[in-house]
Amino acid sequence: MRSWKVQSSVFGVAGNARDFVLDTVFPPQSLLTGRAVTAGEEEGELWASVTFLDDPCCLTCGFPFEFNEGRNALCGRCAARRPAYDRMRSAMRYDDSSRKLVLDFKHGGRTAGLRVFAGHMRRAGRDILPNADMIIPVPLHPKRLRARRYNQSALLCRAIDKRRFDPDVLMRTKNTVSQGGQTVSGRRRNVSGAFAVRTGAAARLRGKRCVLIDDVFTTGATLESCARALKKGGAKSVDAITLARVVKAQSVPT
Ligand SMILES: [Zn+2]
Repeated sequence: MRSWKVQSSVFGVAGNARDFVLDTVFPPQSLLTGRAVTAGEEEGELWASVTFLDDPCCLTCGFPFEFNEGRNALCGRCAARRPAYDRMRSAMRYDDSSRKLVLDFKHGGRTAGLRVFAGHMRRAGRDILPNADMIIPVPLHPKRLRARRYNQSALLCRAIDKRRFDPDVLMRTKNTVSQGGQTVSGRRRNVSGAFAVRTGAAARLRGKRCVLIDDVFTTGATLESCARALKKGGAKSVDAITLARVVKAQSVPT
């Protein structure tokens, strides 16, 4: 059993406040538009506008392919430079349809869709999750955690699998500036060396198959930095699952 102290450190709030964040019952609302819905009302039309991601895709980063190129096919970017993580999969495309859904969850404190999101992430990670030893959320810096009240990646992680959820492996050592609007190389510089394995977690990480959980994959810089830290710390493998990912035509790095 994980201690109460550890749990509350993850969400950055304690006691009743934490329960409020996790358990507040929001009036039934559309997960996409926020409009009130009656219980059981179909949101099929709204969900139909979200692009869910699946095979065929790049074996390593999950970049969706138009045609099936075989299970081991790599996208141009991964063929040119393999990322530090082994495999990454995402549940949905990050675009106009899913943006509101993701941002409401990230900044608005609307955690009502958590179970639905986790279900889609489990589907996206169906080849990754069965063999995982530990499932690790991308951590926030304590300062940002205090401001936001909860770590959205930790909530997703816990909803995916409470048993293998391990929020005390990685820590964010640099309070990086927001990644929004930055170039690929700017994002990489921003998060380079921003994560480290906690001293107390080193022994249980060694030789383990880890899965990182994050909300949005944009350029992959954050996951890259986390995966480097975990591998340096002795992890056997590092895979990742995100709720959403940006998909745009690739320019192969030179
Ligand atoms: Zn790829």
